[in-house]
Amino acid sequence: MQSPWEYPDFDDHEIVHFVTDRETGLKVVIAVHSTHLGPGAGGVRFWHYADPGEAVRDALRLSRGMSFKNAMAGLPLGGGKAVILADDVRTKTPEMLAAYGRAVERLCGAYVTAEDVGVTVADLSAVSKQTKFVAGLPVGEGEVGGDPGPHTSYGVFLGIKAAVKRALGKESLNGLHLAIQGAGSVAGGVARRAAEEGARISLTDIDRARADKLAAEVDGTVVAPDEIMTLAADVLSPNALGAILTAEAIAALNVPVVAGGANNQLAAPGDGQRIHERGILYAPDYVINAGGIINVSSEYLRDADAAGVKARIEQIPVRLEQIWAESAATGRNPAEVADSMAMRLIGRG
Ligand code: NAD
Repeated sequence: MQSPWEYPDFDDHEIVHFVTDRETGLKVVIAVHSTHLGPGAGGVRFWHYADPGEAVRDALRLSRGMSFKNAMAGLPLGGGKAVILADDVRTKTPEMLAAYGRAVERLCGAYVTAEDVGVTVADLSAVSKQTKFVAGLPVGEGEVGGDPGPHTSYGVFLGIKAAVKRALGKESLNGLHLAIQGAGSVAGGVARRAAEEGARISLTDIDRARADKLAAEVDGTVVAPDEIMTLAADVLSPNALGAILTAEAIAALNVPVVAGGANNQLAAPGDGQRIHERGILYAPDYVINAGGIINVSSEYLRDADAAGVKARIEQIPVRLEQIWAESAATGRNPAEVADSMAMRLIGRG
């Protein structure tokens, strides 16, 4: 059996906490990759895994990703992630959430939990009865926090503009063609802002009604889900799924820029290099999509008002520009440059 220390994603995790609560049936892995910059912050995922080892690997991979994302967003936060191992019908009880809250509390603030797949704001409210180390709670009118989607899409939009400026020398999206994958929260915000600036939008979603609704709003064209990755356009903006940039998909891309909010877009470690070798400018996902975590962190740390959050999100294109400049100077691909910048920031350079 492979030792967990040898998992590629283990990467010197500071803490991996395995919790079982027999009374409630809770089984959770809480992984804290780094607290170098502050408490390890990241969401809790509630998911059924056929193989529990896969849950551990997910927790490690996602926690390391949060270290990188938080560091590159300039936040005083480390990286962590929790994965609750659900049964095959995903039974989630208030008692289980309370036990999860107690498990987070036992880490005394080394890990701060938030929302992720399978976890709602109402679930987090239940968790917050047991621990104060929680963010992403419902907020009142005018308060910082709440839905991260609009903040993520604002950062992605600014990142697309920065990429277009670098790759195409254009100051505006006016007249450019954007191919957008997804028609959900992030994609919707990106499409609306881009359309307002005069971009032509093609978009797709497996939920056809959702795609039609967004297309009507932005005067865009709906294409089939399997067409979007090969569409001839100025920008491909992936805002739906991870692992879409496979070797095969990269070979078929028909755009000079890939910049979108989906997490973990590169399917395998060599894909950052593959996309670079095709002469396509790539915006590393965890840098461009940090608007949501910037907003959530300000809610938790209470260190910025709405204007402060906006100003921090507006640093995303600055960070991307640093990555692309270092990439141009060294010949290393942007994904690799971003990873090494993040490693330096968390003291592991
Ligand atoms: P969402 O659920 O609102 O939208 C995702 C959309 O993608 C859905 O409409 C879904 O039908 C569609 N979709 C799923 N599979 C598809 C496919 N094969 N082809 C086309 N469309 C498909 O989610 P969201 O909040 O907009 O997040 C989108 C992406 O951005 C995710 O990868 C998420 O992890 C990432 N992200 C989101 C945030 C945030 O603040 N919401 C922050 C960082 C990263």
